[in-house]
Amino acid sequence: MINVTKTFLPAQEEYQTILKEAWNTGWMTNRGVLVKQLELKLQDYLGTVNIIAMTNGTLPLQIAIKALRLQGEIITTPFSYVATTSSIVWEGCTPVFVDIHPDYLTIDETKIEAKISDRTSAILATHVFGNPCNVEAIEAIAKKHDLKVIYDAAHCFGVTYKGQSIFNFGDVSTCSFHATKLFHTGEGGALFCKPQYFNTIFSHHNFGHNGPEQFNGLGINAKMSEPQAAMGLAVFPYMESILASREKIVEDYSTALASLNLQFLKIREHTIWNFSYYPVIFEDEKQLLNVKLALEKCSIFPRRYFYPSLDTLSYVETSNLPYSASISKRILCLPLYHNLDKNSLQDIINTIKDNL
Ligand SMILES: *Cc1c(COP(=O)(O)O)cnc(C)c1O
Repeated sequence: MINVTKTFLPAQEEYQTILKEAWNTGWMTNRGVLVKQLELKLQDYLGTVNIIAMTNGTLPLQIAIKALRLQGEIITTPFSYVATTSSIVWEGCTPVFVDIHPDYLTIDETKIEAKISDRTSAILATHVFGNPCNVEAIEAIAKKHDLKVIYDAAHCFGVTYKGQSIFNFGDVSTCSFHATKLFHTGEGGALFCKPQYFNTIFSHHNFGHNGPEQFNGLGINAKMSEPQAAMGLAVFPYMESILASREKIVEDYSTALASLNLQFLKIREHTIWNFSYYPVIFEDEKQLLNVKLALEKCSIFPRRYFYPSLDTLSYVETSNLPYSASISKRILCLPLYHNLDKNSLQDIINTIKDNL
């Protein structure tokens, strides 16, 4: 069986050797040695500052909305994982959707200003499939209208834009280390922020604690545990080789599928991408469903990332967003992971060719 992705697992002994350090200290959570080690390694590797490891990639979004004191309306993208929208609603704000760019698949920055009202407090956009939003244009709009900017950078491990980590853009950026993501800790995530927000966010992610007997205000529990950090530390040394094997698979897909009548993701200029997903866009939904069914008959399971368009969720107001509506119905992410073998890749390619 071939799924859209496969979790990279190091040798079990490597995980256990690292986990033993937690056993030795008898300390399983509350920011033990392994979480701190992981944060330092990631900060160094990614070229970021102000990282806080967290227990998943969704709580950082909710904590960011709280910490930036956002209220009213938040401008966002309809083309993302459900967590981008649900976090806004969960925190009592209203998502206002702006359509996506048809090639980059990120929020169309030229359509943001038309949706800004007196109630708008922020822009929460996703760097979809690791492809950066137009961060300069978004920053300029935010400055002009006094809005905060949060990036859902769940897919962005290792992505750089104009030579620096994409996590360095926005007031806050978040990442997911879920088992289906490029770098993982089983469940896990991280938040990156401007220095002025660090203390508030740090305190928010640990119940608001300021020492054992004092509180700095409201908080929640989003701490990463030691077993999670141990998985991250065990996976981390393999990241370069994981990226290299994914790059090769992406090249093979691109060469084999180039002549077909399919649309591919356009990566933004000045980006070093991370080969996190391989989406293809079909002519229409019928063609997508044909290919998907044919692949499934061969026990190959691609995923419809992202479908449905988030403005169709039951708990938000529907918008008129032609590109997101159309592309979400026609886009399919093909299997992509470190050890996807040549034969399987060829089967996937042949099945697509035979069913267009
Ligand atoms: C995976 C993902 C999340 C949520 O991350 P979790 O670690 O699963 O909580 C949020 N946004 C996007 C775009 C994602 O793909």
